[in-house]
Amino acid sequence: MPRSLNIAVIPGDGIGKEVVAQGLKVLTSVLPQDVKLETTEYDLGAQRWHRTGETLPDAELEALKGHDAILLGAIGDPSVPSGVLERGLLLKLRFAFDHYVNLRPSKLFPNTSTPLAGRPEIDFVVVREGTEGPYTGNGGSLRTGTPAEVATEVSLNTAYGVERVVRDAYERANARPRKKLTLVHKNNVLVYAGHLWKNIFDRVGQEYPEVTTDYLHVDAATIFFVTQPERFDVIVTDNLFGDILTDLAAAVTGGIGLAASGNINPTGAFPSMFEPVHGSAPDIAGTGKADPTATILSVALLLRHLGFDAEAARIEEAASADLAERDGSFRTTDEIGDALAVRVAD
Ligand code: ATP
Ligand code: MG
Repeated sequence: MPRSLNIAVIPGDGIGKEVVAQGLKVLTSVLPQDVKLETTEYDLGAQRWHRTGETLPDAELEALKGHDAILLGAIGDPSVPSGVLERGLLLKLRFAFDHYVNLRPSKLFPNTSTPLAGRPEIDFVVVREGTEGPYTGNGGSLRTGTPAEVATEVSLNTAYGVERVVRDAYERANARPRKKLTLVHKNNVLVYAGHLWKNIFDRVGQEYPEVTTDYLHVDAATIFFVTQPERFDVIVTDNLFGDILTDLAAAVTGGIGLAASGNINPTGAFPSMFEPVHGSAPDIAGTGKADPTATILSVALLLRHLGFDAEAARIEEAASADLAERDGSFRTTDEIGDALAVRVAD
């Protein structure tokens, strides 16, 4: 276990600031006394853009490289044109730091209100590719704005990019008790990309004889997420399918207030970034209604990524115990953060 931790904090907009404050409370509380925690706050997001027109200047991108990991609240506000902060900040970071694994665990905690409450245990992880697919900005439009407009949005899939994320997913499946990995794609229609994924999935699988494998078309996967979520352990899929499936996964396992995620560079060449799946939720900002659990569970993912396994497990157990005790009753953002900080105290 490392003896120091140097975290960049991007609170961002709306409830981002509120939930990150709780995440830091729990992080401070869970760490052993002798681990030196250093945090540096970065003022990025909608307010910064309004003030200066900047999204993520190169100097700050450079500075962020010097941290062990990044904790992000949420970025975005209706007052900023759509795409400005997504492309200028979030995607810029993801590509600059080569966050090719987007990790989103889905676990059904006790007493959470979900359409699937009372079902057998749901506990799976989606490994979504983060740097390729249709999200690279590779496309264009001809005769824009005319009735004859033609638009393309090319899905980019490289053997290099697919193999590294598939390998990461096998590693994660191999480390879990059930050792099951499902590839989700649509290779009956998207034959070129689909076969690249399937061939690499099968070839890399030969190196992991203990992992049971399975393939599902994405449309079938959406059905099973709702009707048989317990059949999944680890899922690997491309950027677009993963985006949609992980929102569905959040909805079936207790909603957006509980869903944590990591944008990970498994090589350690650049810092990985951890954040709740939800956005800045301007509709509830400042009301104390934001549930900080997703951010606190993202702190657990951050700690596990950096080798603090025991501390990560303590946070997850505390969140589970706290949700059981809450039993659906309302508590404020601060109250939940305080309760979890007490539960995980070293
Ligand atoms: P973005 O474009 O930034 O993703 P969005 O409008 O798509 O924003 P969210 O900001 O995630 O989505 O909000 C969606 C809904 O979920 C809103 O009604 C919001 O109040 C609610 N919500 C989001 N996060 C939380 C949270 N942590 N606790 C409680 N409710 C939340
Ligand atoms: Mg959203």
